[in-house]
Amino acid sequence: MFQKLIKISNKKLLIPLYHAISDDPPEHLKNLYPLRSIRQFKNDLAFILKFFEPISVKDLVYSIKNNQPFTENRVLFTFDDGLREVKDFIAPILKEKGIPAIFFINSAFVNNKDLFYRYKASLIVERLKNEDTRELARVAEILNINSPLFKPVKDAVLQVNYLHKDVLDEIACLLNIDFNDFLQKNTPYLSTGELSLLMKDGFYIGAHGVGHPEFFNISFEEQYRQVKESITWVQENLNPDFNFFAFPFTDFNVSKQFLESIYADQEMKLNLTFGCAGLKDEFLSSHIQRVPFEKTGCSAKTILYQEYVRYLLKKLIRKNYIKR
Ligand SMILES: [Zn+2]
Repeated sequence: MFQKLIKISNKKLLIPLYHAISDDPPEHLKNLYPLRSIRQFKNDLAFILKFFEPISVKDLVYSIKNNQPFTENRVLFTFDDGLREVKDFIAPILKEKGIPAIFFINSAFVNNKDLFYRYKASLIVERLKNEDTRELARVAEILNINSPLFKPVKDAVLQVNYLHKDVLDEIACLLNIDFNDFLQKNTPYLSTGELSLLMKDGFYIGAHGVGHPEFFNISFEEQYRQVKESITWVQENLNPDFNFFAFPFTDFNVSKQFLESIYADQEMKLNLTFGCAGLKDEFLSSHIQRVPFEKTGCSAKTILYQEYVRYLLKKLIRKNYIKR
């Protein structure tokens, strides 16, 4: 049945997106999305590999560049944010099975130089679980919300966006949370040396922006800087064979002109770029939409059935193309 769905839709290339897997979700991630346990991840792999054959990064670049249609169902796994779980759990599993992957990193966070503001929010929420009403009221005041109850304060902390991220540092200060201390003790991110080792094992590293902003919240120039600086960091520090960029959060509202201009940049020499809108078609074959697997705790089987059925329904009303 699933094989038929892939055939009718003619979407033979699957690019899954994950961040981390863990049997004991770390505090900076656990309040943001449901992480796969190691067993769940292995179950996902087993289901996906029943229907899709892994494609090497080199072959994918070559096929897209030469506009070669995929004759077989193919999969390439991707993991965003450059987290330590990549070296601790993910890469060993993939390596054992000979499965290729691209890992995307943020140049401001690599080597544990700084912490993504969403991870700060998760750490704050974790702390708020043990705070009394008086502290909650003080946090509510900083956030400009009326209720000092845990749920609304938590929701407001998790809704803070890139433009207002400084408010999280203010709350951390109030609650005596030291993010630098957290970075040093927990080393949540991969280091340059660890990324080099992953490359030696045959994996590829791509860029994911400097500081992980929502692109729909920043100007064209700032979008450009985020792409170029992070790509340059990867080029200068890791000297990769290919240049990849995965849009942080989403590529929603990223213009056609923007995509065309980054591809025209002769210093970046972009090979492929990635969004995460699920199975969708694009005006540019090198800009590929990935399927996110961590939005819910659902199995790969459920997620992929939904994705393919949704794609087919959208195709019927010609809404399978992303308009830019
Ligand atoms: Zn990300």
